[in-house]
Amino acid sequence: MDIKKIDSEFIANTYNRFPLQVCKGNGSLLYDEAGKEYIDMGSGIAVNTFGLCDEKWQAAVTHQLSAFQHTSNLYYSEPCAVLAEMICKKTEMSKVFFGNSGAEANECAIKTARKYAAETKGSEYYTIVTLKNSFHGRTLATLAATGQDVFHKDFLPLTKGFVYASANDCEDLRRVIKENKCAAIMFECVQGEGGVLPLERSFVDEIRRLAAENGLLVICDEVQTGNGRSGKLYSYMHYGIKPDIFTTAKGLGGGLPIGAAVLGKKVENVLTPGTHGSTFGGNPICCAGAISILERLDENLLSEVKKKSEYIINELKNADGIENITGLGLMLGIKTKKPAAEVIKKCMEGGVLCLSAKDKVRLLPALNIPQNLLEKAVDTIKKAIK
Ligand SMILES: *Cc1c(COP(=O)(O)O)cnc(C)c1O
Repeated sequence: MDIKKIDSEFIANTYNRFPLQVCKGNGSLLYDEAGKEYIDMGSGIAVNTFGLCDEKWQAAVTHQLSAFQHTSNLYYSEPCAVLAEMICKKTEMSKVFFGNSGAEANECAIKTARKYAAETKGSEYYTIVTLKNSFHGRTLATLAATGQDVFHKDFLPLTKGFVYASANDCEDLRRVIKENKCAAIMFECVQGEGGVLPLERSFVDEIRRLAAENGLLVICDEVQTGNGRSGKLYSYMHYGIKPDIFTTAKGLGGGLPIGAAVLGKKVENVLTPGTHGSTFGGNPICCAGAISILERLDENLLSEVKKKSEYIINELKNADGIENITGLGLMLGIKTKKPAAEVIKKCMEGGVLCLSAKDKVRLLPALNIPQNLLEKAVDTIKKAIK
């Protein structure tokens, strides 16, 4: 069977795939159709938090699978309640809405912010400030939230009510807030798709100050940065802020589709019966998988993430062919002298799978990648960038 041929004929043409068919995996190793082994430095775009076929995760998922796979949100079920409690206790937030993706988590945050503003300030205060070069998803509202024209092209008109400020430009942020009737400001602490760019501390301080001064909700998009990826449970924790809402998805389910909008005290009861919902949201299998991920994201694991991050940075920062490395924890962007695409291709030939973000090589390995595999991968990357 020629899978590549069938795929190109029948799958919508939205992805430029690499010439590699994934056939099986184990931890941070995966194997193609010819049995060639690769070290996975992308983990399905920050999704497979503990790698492929992680045993504890597999056991949690199959245990739930043998009980029941789905019920509607008309009834109670254990996994989503337990997961919501776990998220809230770890973050001192109040309530969780479950959806199935990052975009849906952000949609929920946007709806919550609009409803809160309508109820407290008036329905004309619907505008949400986001940052230029951000990425918040592919639905029409989250596309509008995304501050990059390339994604908007050919899909106009987008949902209205989004304005963009330049990242790390306090003056521009003040201007945008002043010129609009705003409900909230939404941002990634580390812009992922935008090139793995952490916001400056002083800019995040200014966001907090301006939000308080103008009665705006603070929404952190933790879809890529969340669940231990940055070296803290959620990346806003690096900045000493507490958002009113944060969103999470990608790594939360360890490989199953789940997203969540996590609500602080101020907005915990903004959504009421009938105002929002999702058929699959809070799916018990996805939640069982997520519990098994989240319960292991303790201080030990997070300090491992930081150590591995330092290892990669120390090895690569002075290597031949490097311009710079940005990012936090195991979310790193490498600006290379050679074009990123060329480096990624070379790495793949050498048995290492890397991602890109804008003009950078992006690394998002599993948080538990073994040190020996990490060393092998870094070696291959060094050779590829030379
Ligand atoms: C991936 C991503 C999204 C979109 O998530 P989907 O699950 O693809 O809908 C939103 N925000 C950020 C920061 C992301 O990295």
